[in-house]
Amino acid sequence: MKQCDFQIRYTCYDQLDELPGHYVSLVNSAIEAAGDAYAPYSKYHVGASVLLENGEIITGNNQENAAYPSGLCAERVALFYAGSRYPEVAVRAIAVAAVRDGSVQEEPVTPCGACRQVLFEKEHRGGKPIEVILYGSKKILVLQQSTDLLPLPFTLDGAD
Ligand SMILES: [Zn+2]
Repeated sequence: MKQCDFQIRYTCYDQLDELPGHYVSLVNSAIEAAGDAYAPYSKYHVGASVLLENGEIITGNNQENAAYPSGLCAERVALFYAGSRYPEVAVRAIAVAAVRDGSVQEEPVTPCGACRQVLFEKEHRGGKPIEVILYGSKKILVLQQSTDLLPLPFTLDGAD
């Protein structure tokens, strides 16, 4: 027997203009996308912006429903839309931001477990790490790959 552990490294920023330029535009796309969320129940408007290897940026936002489980998070809307439009193109980065009561959330948005699993599989399919930018107006976290959010993802043996 031996003790094992995970080490997760991520970069913290205090404000948006400290980030590299391509992250800034991705974050701004996520904030803009949050404005179009359909969130009449939670009032929590989330936007996600996905940068593809071909340079395209795909955005999504949370889409709620009166039958709550029927809704979908911004991250999965964006990732599934990217997969639908460009099934063979890898994702390089995703940025997530949230707006509540008309203001961008101060703390970084952290994806739910289901979105982390979907992000992992998208990364696995693409064969390249997906950088994850979790935006808050007072703190921004940048992670290098999906498993930094989900260290032991679910997989099916032999699945591609
Ligand atoms: Zn989610």
